[in-house]
Amino acid sequence: MVTCTGCGLLCDDIEVVVENGKIKETRNACRRGAARMRGCMNRLSPSVNQKPSDIKNCIRKAADILRNARSPMLFGWSNSTCEAQLKGIQLARKLNAAIDDTSSFCQGILIEKVLQKKFRTCSLEDIRDKADVLVYWGSDAQDSLPRHLSRFSYFPRGESRQRGYEEDRIAIAIDVRESNTAKICKGHFYRIPLKGDWDFILALMDALSGKVPSYDSKKMLELASIMKKAEFGAIFLGIGLTYSIKEDFDILQKLADMLPNINIMPMVGPYNMRGFNEALFKETSFVNRVKFDGKASHDSSYSIVEALRNKSIDTLLIVGSDPLSSLPRSAISHLANIPIICIDPCVTLTSRIASVTIPCAYSGVENGGSAVRMDGKVVELTKILTTNFPSDEEILTRLTEAL
Ligand code: SF4
Repeated sequence: MVTCTGCGLLCDDIEVVVENGKIKETRNACRRGAARMRGCMNRLSPSVNQKPSDIKNCIRKAADILRNARSPMLFGWSNSTCEAQLKGIQLARKLNAAIDDTSSFCQGILIEKVLQKKFRTCSLEDIRDKADVLVYWGSDAQDSLPRHLSRFSYFPRGESRQRGYEEDRIAIAIDVRESNTAKICKGHFYRIPLKGDWDFILALMDALSGKVPSYDSKKMLELASIMKKAEFGAIFLGIGLTYSIKEDFDILQKLADMLPNINIMPMVGPYNMRGFNEALFKETSFVNRVKFDGKASHDSSYSIVEALRNKSIDTLLIVGSDPLSSLPRSAISHLANIPIICIDPCVTLTSRIASVTIPCAYSGVENGGSAVRMDGKVVELTKILTTNFPSDEEILTRLTEAL
């Protein structure tokens, strides 16, 4: 059995058939996981200023660029092993650089609150064994974490839920559209208007405290009753909700306080985003948007989006991420003005404009290590295939030594 790094579920029940140094077949993986196991469509090659080079020279050139930078940022990390992430944090310290990851524009604040123990949470195994009420809020797990419902929440028979979804569990979807997850939730889909989560939470809190809610009162009272009666429930919070309520998590905390049997779990897409958040939190008490300068400072201006918009960084080292394809247009124009060092197994839009590209092994397939599952459990990754490419951890070690 090996672990799939296709998403934050880190399924560890995957069987692979290897033939002629390639993964020929996977069993138990979902379609996304099987594609991840097959690797990149286009493998990245070492290059300096868009010209072919070798990895040794690329590392030397990257070290030169970083040495001369006045305000570098190190970004990415959600698709790297815990070991590589630690090296990255050490490198950021050494360079007095800013460091950030993809969680700064999705689930970072929520994860930080979970790590600060401001929300009650649990493991995926607890959910599989005990949960009777499952609420997918702003999260289409069927698409983003495809085996969530089948391995851990709605469909499996759990220790105390032997009759599974037919009788023992209720799945609820709260979303702006009828997603694939909402279709499974059938009679328990609550459609809300775009950015309507805040009003929905207030109405639900009214219903929970016995008041007549202003908002679709019949359905709201029904939802409040299901959630109140839950013996062991979970709200899976997706980025739909996070984006909608912006940074106002106090209201969510008030709702959670009214539901003592319900756990809160952030839905984490990239396979090791939580690993990075936990590692940085341990070192600095913050999960992202940190700048080292003798001490660690935290500010929204150290998020990649703000730093690019404000043109406050002059060099960007990117590990396992493709900001050019995922960030808003207002942020990406500055990418054309600064040297970019890209460490990745695959060609990406960002690697095409990078000053230095350094190909690395495909983690979870060509190198092992560890990662943190979306619920905080540490999972070991297996090396399945042999490669000549160094791991991102090794590249970062060599880069740090070259400085
Ligand atoms: S659900 Fe995620 S971790 Fe599991 S097999 Fe699919 S992609 Fe891989």
